[in-house]
Amino acid sequence: MERKPSLLLLDADGVLWRGQSPLPHSAEFVSRAQAAGIRCVLVSNNSTKDRVAYSAQCSAMGIPLNREDIFSSNYIAGPWLARERPGRSVLVLGSELLHRSVAQHVEQCVHAPKWLGQRGLLEYRGGNELYRVLAGLRPDVVLSGMDVATDYLKHALACIAIQQGAELIGTNDDISFPVEGGWLLPGSGAQLAMYSLVCRTEPVVLGKPGLAILQQIEMETGIARSEMLMIGDRPNTDIAMAQNAGIPSMLVLTGVTDRATAESLSLPATIIADLEEAAAILSI
Ligand SMILES: [Mg+2]
Repeated sequence: MERKPSLLLLDADGVLWRGQSPLPHSAEFVSRAQAAGIRCVLVSNNSTKDRVAYSAQCSAMGIPLNREDIFSSNYIAGPWLARERPGRSVLVLGSELLHRSVAQHVEQCVHAPKWLGQRGLLEYRGGNELYRVLAGLRPDVVLSGMDVATDYLKHALACIAIQQGAELIGTNDDISFPVEGGWLLPGSGAQLAMYSLVCRTEPVVLGKPGLAILQQIEMETGIARSEMLMIGDRPNTDIAMAQNAGIPSMLVLTGVTDRATAESLSLPATIIADLEEAAAILSI
């Protein structure tokens, strides 16, 4: 590279680790970059993990990233809402950890299962009385994130709120994610797409390829985009965000993209086999 970046934006799964196992060069790569004076931050669309959870995972894998180096959609959603939608009330359809993170920044913040539980609503049965109760919430924003405890009653609450005028915001729009055995399971984006289709509204999306995570990184580090480099494994999120922001990028083949696919896409990214190759290119 002509000039070393000041900051590396690192995607997590497929770059630093794969599932529960660290990738071979990740800990060493981050250490070497830091030793060369390059700040490394983790950039993740995952809304179920906060800074504490991610830094614990890094530490267990020997990857030297601390809490202040973690930027997930979970972490940035609260500050984004407080800044971009000040004073608005938010209904969270996602994990308890997402609700807790957002509630630190948003005064009127309701977690869907808790709100339903407080009204004794435990399963969907339909009926006018139910819809009247659900329509009573009237939040300004519906925030949709990954939710493994999903149920129809929560979806009814979200859809009625959106049809009453709540703005639909997604932590990220990843439709699926791969699990052991090669299966694809519904991701956060599947729920977001459902609300969007049912309510005929286009959501605002915070995660990659959107720029909300990047904006938070710029604010906290004070480092300009022109000093950054993105390393990711997904063309439609990692590489697309970098392209949207005018940031150079590397597509690493240790994740979901193989070489044939990467080469067929004519991406504006340098294709690298692994992080060892990235270290060689960066001369670190
Ligand atoms: Mg990835």
